[in-house]
Amino acid sequence: MSRAIEEVYSSLSGRFRGDLLRPGHPEFPEARRIWNGMVARTPGLIARCAGVPDVQAVVRAASAAGIFPAIRCGGHSLAGFSSCEGGLVIDLSRLRQVSVDEKNRRARFSGGCLLGSVDTATQALGLVFPSGVVSHTGAAGLVLGGGTGWLNRLHGLSCDNVEGFTLVVADGSVLHASATENSDLFWALRGGGGNFGVVTEFEVKLHPLSAVLYGTALHFGDDIPRVLQAWRDFMLESPDNLRWGFSLTIAPHSENVPAHLRGLPVASASAVWAEDLEEGRRYVDRVLSFCRPVAVAKQVIPFLKLQTMADAEFPHGRRYYTKSGYFKSFTDQSIHTMVGALETIPSPVSQIELAYLGGAAARVGADETAFGDRSAPFVMNLLGNWQNAEDDVANVSWVRNLFAKLRPAMVPGVYVNFMSGDEDDRVPEAYRNRWERLVAVKTQYDPSNLFRMNQNVPSQKTAGSASGD
Ligand SMILES: Cc1cc2nc3c(=O)[nH]c(=O)nc-3n(C[C@H](O)[C@H](O)[C@H](O)COP(=O)(O)OP(=O)(O)OC[C@H]3O[C@@H](n4cnc5c(N)ncnc54)[C@H](O)[C@@H]3O)c2cc1C
Repeated sequence: MSRAIEEVYSSLSGRFRGDLLRPGHPEFPEARRIWNGMVARTPGLIARCAGVPDVQAVVRAASAAGIFPAIRCGGHSLAGFSSCEGGLVIDLSRLRQVSVDEKNRRARFSGGCLLGSVDTATQALGLVFPSGVVSHTGAAGLVLGGGTGWLNRLHGLSCDNVEGFTLVVADGSVLHASATENSDLFWALRGGGGNFGVVTEFEVKLHPLSAVLYGTALHFGDDIPRVLQAWRDFMLESPDNLRWGFSLTIAPHSENVPAHLRGLPVASASAVWAEDLEEGRRYVDRVLSFCRPVAVAKQVIPFLKLQTMADAEFPHGRRYYTKSGYFKSFTDQSIHTMVGALETIPSPVSQIELAYLGGAAARVGADETAFGDRSAPFVMNLLGNWQNAEDDVANVSWVRNLFAKLRPAMVPGVYVNFMSGDEDDRVPEAYRNRWERLVAVKTQYDPSNLFRMNQNVPSQKTAGSASGD
């Protein structure tokens, strides 16, 4: 244990209500686990907080010892920012309270909640908070970076639905940020990630919804580029209630895929319609009929089922690597490049995820929140997903090479929550002309850049030469 970690441990011992876990503690192996096996690390101390006073104590102790803590909610940071080698992790997994105000359609949830905890509590009253698509993702990391999911075309990004944050800032004090209180901080927390402090509570708006129409279809061979062209054109005019997107991957050896098509490149479509289900049937039938689809399925499902159906596809501990970006227009050439890349995909469960943003998310002004560019509707995420370390080079190279080929057709910008750990140079690109304002807020609330284990916005004091456009 380093001297600084020892200093933090002894300053917290005796007064910390939560758990102080060091290597050798029986709970340490499970507590150190984060989602991405590629970036698994062994911290020197995990401080699992039992309440806000614990968070304050550990932030003060880290600051006094001069160490930069990693903050952990769900541990899903693709880049591995919620852990560190030999250092300090502020673990919020005991802070999972959710309270729902049914009448006013509002909820408060703690800084360690997973999406599943928020969904379960809100769905009990027929309400939803628009968030991501895998229930074991941490709500805090997702919301602070922006938050996209099935409902963001209808109700905006997750961060657009936040009305207040309570957080512990670098000097250990507790602040509240809203439209009327610390409003610059409120702006920065909606998209600016974990740069500004440890958020212990989110106050959010909810919307009524308990079931959706969910449809799927598969497209093979020449139908893959054709259906992507149809998607590109159709989504321009489609209602906000529809979210239709694709995963380009290799067809699995599963029952719903005809035997002769298993193992072939596939465009796997999913379409979700929220609210008026009669109207939804017309739209979902239509989009799932384009270009000779195979294995078409459609049903009304509970929202909670929708929110958990992808959980098993992204298990903890596998190796993942991602690169992401936006297209303003989705050209035939880009489609051709993506389809071609499926021929050399090194892992059958890697994928090119394609989503169309637009809708309510795109109607929020670019300067209203720190979240990046909303004007380019096509969001692409190249997600490498494989099992063994000996396959790292092949899988990482496939993602990097494909990204390099597609990059000239993209617009500048990237969603911080879809960034890997080797993309520090893209953080100013993510924020572009919001960069200077973020640096100013950072300088005010975290001048020594205590919270730097993230897609980092340095303070003026700690900044290098990075700048936005
Ligand atoms: C399987 C999977 C599915 C995903 N699906 C979606 C999706 O549908 N939509 C989407 O938008 N994104 C999605 N993502 C990306 C996701 O938003 C990010 O990985 C996000 O960082 C996860 O948050 P977390 O709390 O689990 O992560 P953690 O690893 O715990 O934290 C991530 C970052 O947030 C900071 N942080 C966490 N909690 C706090 C807090 N309370 N206060 C201050 N800072 C904090 C950490 O310092 C770290 O930098 C997905 C990721 C995975 C792995």
